[in-house]
Amino acid sequence: MIPYLDLNSINKRYQGQFAEAFEKFMERGQMILGDSLSGFEKDYAQYCGTQYCIGVGNGLDALRLIFEGYKIHGKLKDGDKVLICAHSYVATVLAVKQAGLVPVLLEVDPKTFNFDLDALTAVNDPDIKALLPTHLYGDVSPMEVIWVLAQERGWLVIEDAAQAHGAVGVHGKRAGNLAHAAAFSFYPTKNLGALGDGGAVTTNDPELAQCIAYLRNYGSGQKYYNKYSGFNSRLDELQAAFLAIKLKDLDRDNARRIVIAQRYHDQVHNPKIVLPRPNFDGSHVYHLFVVQCEDREKLKAHLATARIGTSIHYPVPPHRQEGLSELSHFEFPKTERLHETVLSLPMSPVMTDQEVDRVIQALNSFEL
Ligand SMILES: *Cc1c(COP(=O)(O)O)cnc(C)c1O
Repeated sequence: MIPYLDLNSINKRYQGQFAEAFEKFMERGQMILGDSLSGFEKDYAQYCGTQYCIGVGNGLDALRLIFEGYKIHGKLKDGDKVLICAHSYVATVLAVKQAGLVPVLLEVDPKTFNFDLDALTAVNDPDIKALLPTHLYGDVSPMEVIWVLAQERGWLVIEDAAQAHGAVGVHGKRAGNLAHAAAFSFYPTKNLGALGDGGAVTTNDPELAQCIAYLRNYGSGQKYYNKYSGFNSRLDELQAAFLAIKLKDLDRDNARRIVIAQRYHDQVHNPKIVLPRPNFDGSHVYHLFVVQCEDREKLKAHLATARIGTSIHYPVPPHRQEGLSELSHFEFPKTERLHETVLSLPMSPVMTDQEVDRVIQALNSFEL
């Protein structure tokens, strides 16, 4: 069986180092906001090329705390609108909503899985104050276009980089360093994944960084003195220690993902299967390799028969979710279609060449 994602094999590579980190953790006795966290924050800021990194509880909170920080600094206020691509994970929308802001969704371009740039350029609503591009599937958003528009219209730009750790965008800058602030998730399945929940904000804005460092810890910089009405969302010491270990191999792992993606791209020839556009220059780190197929369920079943696991990202778009009925007035035919046709193939840095061969053969033998 080739699993869609073999997390155990990914993490087994580090079992010895994790055990050492755990021993150190037990000796040191710091559980929260200790040296492992500050060490990882320093490493990750350096890796992304930003001045600041603030570890938080998860990716959703990373997004939310960016918005909360901007509200404290008067750059956003309750009811301001935030632009999001309709084809994203639900967390992107929820973070905006939970921060008291209003998500405005835009149609997708099915070729890039990102904003339809004509729709984006046509946006002209003075209540929109921020743009939240998602580097979906690991592919960096079209930041050049986004920056020109944002500067013209005075928008804040916040990256949802939860799927794009290590991707390199314009001017050789990494995801996380391509906007005013960025949110990362270290959910176990991500390219840089913890052994539990985790997240981080990266930014070059000292005021925002300071504010989020307080907000994640009850709004406090000094114990029992609360400057802000804050939250409890801290990246814990153990996860920070594990992440610091895995960060050292992130570039190598991403390079392996790109090699696998390139093989899928070069060797899958099946008119029934639409491959993602080729992008192997490092600006796509293939968190997911997503194909499209008119009869997705049949393709999924065909692969299952060949003992190949797959997944769907995502079966239902945010504006069709039961829990987000306030968005149900939106109509995005391309986004909705995409959610019916996308299928995520096995993709991970621990896949062997033989496993990749088998997936390619199975894809090529599929008939509708
Ligand atoms: C995973 C993910 C998040 C949320 O991260 P959590 O750590 O699960 O809260 C947000 N946005 C995108 C695009 C994601 O893939």
